[in-house]
Amino acid sequence: MAKVFQQPIHVTRPLLPDFEKVTDRLKTVWESKQLTNFGAQHDELSTKLQRYLESDHMSIFSNGTLALLLGLRALELTGEVITTPFTFPATVQALDWNNLTPVFCDIDPTTFNIDADKIESLITDKTTAILAVHVFGNPCDVEKIQAIADKHHLKVIYDGAHAFGSKLNGLPISGFGDMTMFSFHATKLFNTIEGGALIYRDPALDKRLGLLRNFGILNTEEVVLSGLNAKLNELQAGVGLEVLKVVEDERLKRHAVKKAYEEHLAAIEGIRVLTTLEGESSSYQYFVIRIDETLFGQSRDYVHKELQKYNVFARKYFYPLCSDFEWYNELPSAHPENLPNAQRAVQQVLAMPYYGALPIQSVVEICTIIRELYVKQKSLSQL
Ligand SMILES: *Cc1c(COP(=O)(O)O)cnc(C)c1O
Repeated sequence: MAKVFQQPIHVTRPLLPDFEKVTDRLKTVWESKQLTNFGAQHDELSTKLQRYLESDHMSIFSNGTLALLLGLRALELTGEVITTPFTFPATVQALDWNNLTPVFCDIDPTTFNIDADKIESLITDKTTAILAVHVFGNPCDVEKIQAIADKHHLKVIYDGAHAFGSKLNGLPISGFGDMTMFSFHATKLFNTIEGGALIYRDPALDKRLGLLRNFGILNTEEVVLSGLNAKLNELQAGVGLEVLKVVEDERLKRHAVKKAYEEHLAAIEGIRVLTTLEGESSSYQYFVIRIDETLFGQSRDYVHKELQKYNVFARKYFYPLCSDFEWYNELPSAHPENLPNAQRAVQQVLAMPYYGALPIQSVVEICTIIRELYVKQKSLSQL
């Protein structure tokens, strides 16, 4: 019989670096008397991240949402952007704030990423870009998406908030498309408490994004465009530099947690584990299962609620679908009947507690709870 956990087990815990080292950084910043506006910590973080993510052109921001919002602005997009309903609200809200109309495309039922085969039929003469999400860090069908974009002269932007360090056939995930956003929020694998970055192909965007994240200020005499404030401050950049040192170790630990889940969930009927496909390397951002109610005998919502009785707080990522937001009611592409795979996925996915410090024994116990919730279905011959 499964036991109730003494302490709540949350879906994640922020990756915290060594406190003494963070204090040393804080002291350095204090002595420099520069707290923000692209100081030494910011520049060091930028250089180190660029190396880590193997990118030529990168800008750092105060969070991932503003990075994406300003990235879309920098690309001067207009009209309609084809995107996925199965994502975090920030993806589509970055479109809203640019006066761009989202056109929702259904997802692939196995990867949960935008279904590249369904994109082309949604293109109109107003379409200017495809905004796809590497959901749970698993790469989209980047080649097919690029081929469609090339054929129709569209930009390709990836929300890579989950994909820090993801690779496809040995290549860094940010090497695909015109632009990729990363989030450094506290719940993400790599964090600066709040923060984000853009990696992009066009070197001209270095200057433009530099202006957009700092009020369009070119120098003490000139303000040349309407920007925003999206600067990452020195304290957070300093924390990020210390987190970066422990990211690889966290990955190794999460790998062990992932293996334990996979082993102990494997034999349960109706539970499917979302794994990385051939040629992909995982970002270890989330560990997600899919619950097929007809095989498992209980719904995802039931499992989610029952786990809470054991002090286990899994999360329904993503829920609800972005296409179901009230302000998209009038949008034809948002109609549920156009998005059958997304509608099914949103009822079935559950992100399990997942972080390096989660003891393997706890993973085993969580899997035991799930096994005990299983209800054997009568086969047709027994009915
Ligand atoms: C976390 C997240 C964001 C938002 O990033 P912030 O840094 O929190 O602004 C955007 N898209 C997805 C898919 C996310 O998971």
